[in-house]
Amino acid sequence: MSASIITILGQFEQKAWSTPDSVAVVCVDESVTYRELSEQATRVAHALVDAGVRSETLVGVFLDRSVNLVAALLGIWKAGAAYLPLDPGYPPDRLAFMLEDSNVGFVLTEHSLAGSMPSTSAQIICAEDLPGQTPGHRSLPIGPAADQLAYVIYTSGSSGKPKGAAICHGGLLNVIRAISEELGLGVSDVVLASASISFDISFLEMFLPLITGARLHIVDRLCAADGARLIEALRTSGATVILGTPTSWRLLLEAGWQGSPGLQIISGGEVLPASLVRTLSGMSKAIWNHYGPTEATICATTELVRADEGKVTIGRPLANVRVYVLDQDHQQVHSGEIGEMYIGGAGVGRGYLNRPTLSEACFLLDPFDPMPGARMYKTGDLGRVLRDGRLEFLGRIDGQVKIRGFRIELEEIEEIIQQYDDIQSAAVQAVERGADDYRLIAFVVSRTEKPLIGLKEFLRKRLPWYMVPSEFITVEALPLSPNGKIDRRALKDLHIKPAVVDQQSVEQPSDEVEVTLKAIWEALLKVSPISISDNFFELGGHSLLAARMFAEIERKFHRNIPLSELVGNPTIRELAARIRHSVRDGDWPGLVTIQPGVSSLAPLFVVHGLGGSLFSFRALAAELGPDQPVYGLQRPPRIAAGKNRPTIRALAAKYIEEIQAIDPVGPYNLAGHSSGGIIAFEMAGQLRNSGREVKLLALLDCDYPAEPSVRSPSAGRLDTGLRGARHLLRRCLEEGMSVVLKRKFHHEKIKLRYRLLRLSPHTSSFHPRIFGMEAYLALSAKEYVPQPYGGDMVLFIAEESLEMQPRFGAGWARSVLGRLEMLEIPGTHQKILDLPHVTRLAQEFQKRIHPPQAALNDTLAACSID
Ligand code: AMP
Repeated sequence: MSASIITILGQFEQKAWSTPDSVAVVCVDESVTYRELSEQATRVAHALVDAGVRSETLVGVFLDRSVNLVAALLGIWKAGAAYLPLDPGYPPDRLAFMLEDSNVGFVLTEHSLAGSMPSTSAQIICAEDLPGQTPGHRSLPIGPAADQLAYVIYTSGSSGKPKGAAICHGGLLNVIRAISEELGLGVSDVVLASASISFDISFLEMFLPLITGARLHIVDRLCAADGARLIEALRTSGATVILGTPTSWRLLLEAGWQGSPGLQIISGGEVLPASLVRTLSGMSKAIWNHYGPTEATICATTELVRADEGKVTIGRPLANVRVYVLDQDHQQVHSGEIGEMYIGGAGVGRGYLNRPTLSEACFLLDPFDPMPGARMYKTGDLGRVLRDGRLEFLGRIDGQVKIRGFRIELEEIEEIIQQYDDIQSAAVQAVERGADDYRLIAFVVSRTEKPLIGLKEFLRKRLPWYMVPSEFITVEALPLSPNGKIDRRALKDLHIKPAVVDQQSVEQPSDEVEVTLKAIWEALLKVSPISISDNFFELGGHSLLAARMFAEIERKFHRNIPLSELVGNPTIRELAARIRHSVRDGDWPGLVTIQPGVSSLAPLFVVHGLGGSLFSFRALAAELGPDQPVYGLQRPPRIAAGKNRPTIRALAAKYIEEIQAIDPVGPYNLAGHSSGGIIAFEMAGQLRNSGREVKLLALLDCDYPAEPSVRSPSAGRLDTGLRGARHLLRRCLEEGMSVVLKRKFHHEKIKLRYRLLRLSPHTSSFHPRIFGMEAYLALSAKEYVPQPYGGDMVLFIAEESLEMQPRFGAGWARSVLGRLEMLEIPGTHQKILDLPHVTRLAQEFQKRIHPPQAALNDTLAACSID
């Protein structure tokens, strides 16, 4: 078959012809070459043509993200048809509406999914039933023309029903080719795809690489919502391009992403805040801000954003695209004046499927384009042209909102709520509940006094999850404006009745784990009371809040549970069981992978400090490079009542067992920060005593434990006091008063507990919950007497600690019999592990773990002389 090169399909076929054996798509453990993908698409096309599909026939695609999905989309085009994406994760009623409204005659799916399709008169074709061989003798239609329909995609509708935007091939190719050129994509690029097929950004993800000869790497649904897994996918795929919304970047950052120097970040879908750009810059090769509505084919303008510019704009129109800022009379406003943005040129869609009136209202004749019949799309977005010609986005003129990148018409939700029996009227608002945390709140006027049990379930069946409000508030009446419409501004001031949906029974926590989790949820979700059987997502939880919740779980329970566990355990009861199971007394998995690296390199093992968290080592791991494996030894969560407090010797012995499970023979690289250094020191001693080699023993700002505290004379005390005050003041100025004071308060609390513990006559019979693990560890560290160590050691001293404690390091000199190096690193005790100081630390580690080739050659030469 011949496909015209004025379509994505044609461009893809050209690549399949010129680079047939290059890998086109990787998804989980499956991968296909360009030739294989093209052949698979051809088989789909033949099956469709045989079934009766003709030019522009709409074919539904009910498939999860997979190689089959990409082949299905290309195959539909090869048959001359157009596709309608049907996300299997969508509620059945919404899918049924889309099937009926679009009147699709065929749906491509798989056997495993066919059962969950809503009933339809469309003919179902399963991927597994396609012929295994390409029928060689039969030809397919000539590839689609530029003005032919490529796809229909449904978006939220203000009339109360979703509407299908119809997009043509020419516009799609124009957008994708323009972006590919802006990014400078080539065959060595890898695009990581994580979006659902319900959103057109997924087509950009898929076809950007496929028209360039690059590689498409698809991640599954769970990975897309889990920052830690996404970081891992970025690393393992070698991705050079990632697309997403600002929410995606926050998710990555909250999961501890340290950046990828070769990565181009494409942000779109909603406002990209300047603060986020500042955080992301320096962590990637480039950050792009894309703007555009679905109706004008994915993207209309683009901007390469820079952190040193205070304002983030949406840039300039793509090649062959025009953006006008118009007043109410459709006249262009002057530069700098605010108006509504209209989009003309190549990407303007055909209109809404089967909605002539709505199409006429939104797709207008373009009076500024000399081409006869040219049209422009009325976006509903406010904007202005800046002096340098770039465009600034200034919000909406209507009720459409964006929450975490999802386009939502509030009227659509209101319409569905009003279909519920007991509801008289409803209004929905997007309310900011915290930093980057927007929720949908429904104000409802009920016909009855009864609680509205069942309303949420009703909505869940009809709306995608991101459109189901997280809070419902019953009100006497909705405020109306003089013209009888809902007065949305006045909604906020409504007298709020506490009677909320689904409040029939609040199940109380049954133990400490559940109590703690409930407190974490209430603080994060700002909802109270919470029942232990409530679902996190239904209470307004979303991926960003989930990341924060898991960070709190780490802090409180010292357990690093994968975020994906929340999907299967979305209630407090289930999550608590998961935590309890993983924190059985004396059975804590001590070893945590901070960075898997490559197995050919000797790992670095880092030991927790008093606080126990291993989060602080992530920057060090990243600076050591992605190939370096780094494992963390995490402290026991607590001591079982009646059990003995672990001594440093016992902890070290336990950790040696853990590291030998990974690397039984060594040589070993060990490091510990703060009190963790003492444990690393003891581990190194025990390893050497058992005949093992320790290549690196690095202590990071670790005080000598058995040193008697020396009281300075009063003049010296005054001097130290003044230095201390100066130091504190500087920290407050640099890091913010509340952060420094919080930390100081925490330290003082541990110190107090530690002192109490020392005074306790029964230090062997413990009350673990009273004093906390930190105080026990502080006592064990203080009691530890270092034995002489026969190997070498390097002691990194934070310059700003040195300023506070000039005697630092003297004790270690007595206990290290080999070479003791003392190196100063700029920063405070904690900051030496953060950027920029950690870079220097990592360089020093590198020198010792992987000595430069010259030094290695010297060593080898010395060996051969011997
Ligand atoms: P959608 O059709 O889901 O792509 O949503 C399109 C709408 O999202 C636009 O009309 C804007 O209101 C908003 N939008 C898209 N990209 C951006 C951006 N980069 N900055 C601000 N708003 C955006």
